[in-house]
Amino acid sequence: MSDATYDVIVAGLGGMGGSAAYHLAARGQRVLGLERFGPAHDRGASHGGSRITRQSYFEDPAYVPLLLHAYELWERLERDSGRDLMTLTGGLLMGAPDSLTVSGSRRSAEQWGLAHEMLDATEIRRRFPVFRPAPGDVALYEAKAGLLRPEAAVEANLALAAGHGAQLRFHEPVESWTADDGGVTVRTAAGTYTAGALVVCPGAWAPQLLADLGVPLVVERQVQFWFEPVGGIEPFRPEVQPIFIWEGPPGTQVYGFPALDGPGGGIKVSFFRRGEVTTPETIDRSIRAEEIEFVAAHLATRVPAAAGRFLRGKTCMYTNTPDEHFVIGRHPRHERVTVACGFSGHGFKFVPVVGEILADLALDGTTAHPVTLFDPTRVRARGRD
Ligand SMILES: Cc1cc2nc3c(=O)[nH]c(=O)nc-3n(C[C@H](O)[C@H](O)[C@H](O)COP(=O)(O)OP(=O)(O)OC[C@H]3O[C@@H](n4cnc5c(N)ncnc54)[C@H](O)[C@@H]3O)c2cc1C
Repeated sequence: MSDATYDVIVAGLGGMGGSAAYHLAARGQRVLGLERFGPAHDRGASHGGSRITRQSYFEDPAYVPLLLHAYELWERLERDSGRDLMTLTGGLLMGAPDSLTVSGSRRSAEQWGLAHEMLDATEIRRRFPVFRPAPGDVALYEAKAGLLRPEAAVEANLALAAGHGAQLRFHEPVESWTADDGGVTVRTAAGTYTAGALVVCPGAWAPQLLADLGVPLVVERQVQFWFEPVGGIEPFRPEVQPIFIWEGPPGTQVYGFPALDGPGGGIKVSFFRRGEVTTPETIDRSIRAEEIEFVAAHLATRVPAAAGRFLRGKTCMYTNTPDEHFVIGRHPRHERVTVACGFSGHGFKFVPVVGEILADLALDGTTAHPVTLFDPTRVRARGRD
């Protein structure tokens, strides 16, 4: 099919693009979605069975209004798709009182009046006996934290997008795009497509597909590890075990999930920001013995009952901006092009609200949501910080 005309083309149908396609199609737009791989694949950033969601956001209180809206949209997406996407397990944000994880979460909770409890080490042990906090450790406990199911969420968005008439073409990577006052033109090996607007959500492929964006992006290899609990999964079931993010010595922020059933079974743990720089073409997807040992040793001192047999590992990619805030907005050089990238390892919980924002921006050029923090021109304007 060549020279088809659409209202909006969405390039990349992962977490963000799938949501954008759904929101645009639901608003009556003629949408074409183009994706490099198959639906809900495991070669980008939106796979691995679980993602953390939470509201007391240590990264910046500016994210909180978006999170509150995202929670409403997650519930709506569950209803509309009939899929189980979000489980609120409660969450522990742990570490020294002045660690970013604890102090930043507390700042957001206090600023926005979010329900939370502060627990000392004794109280953490009493309520959540699998953890071995150091005497000075504290935790912010948030009942509204929990986990999301990324593959199911991507599938839900794609199914709803198609249900609203979006044409979704898989295994058809965008090779190039151009934009001018008259519209956008997108080329793939199979054809050339034209539309009034383009939304680009390429994840770790942003350095290629958005080469002239002007934002320095660094793609990082990350590994998700699954372990079998010692002595059975009962203490780790989602009904009793919260998600956790635990900041230890500088540079080590470990996070983990309750044990889930099925092929995604076992306890998943990982680290924030300990990845090597990579590209989607060159990433080493094998899991190395020394990285398994490092995680197992870390777990053995902090959550010993979780440090059983290693089950499996799976690589994933972060696409980091210099300040680790997202990039969402109009392309600074192309008025008809809207971009969403640089989610810096913490974007999934925002998927539904990002889809809504992208639809607003593509159709109206503006959004009522607070997105100043994500302005694509901020990095150049402020320099690397
Ligand atoms: C290990 C790990 C753990 C994480 N944990 C959390 C967490 O607990 N909580 C949280 O909120 N976030 C978390 N994140 C971050 C979150 O998962 C990402 O921010 C989010 O999935 C990014 O979505 P995306 O749509 O930008 O990227 P992706 O989902 O990767 O989608 C990009 C899509 O674009 C496609 N594409 C690329 N180039 C082209 C092209 N030329 N043509 C067509 N299609 C193309 C790709 O194939 C891909 O499907 C984690 C990420 C990782 C890697």
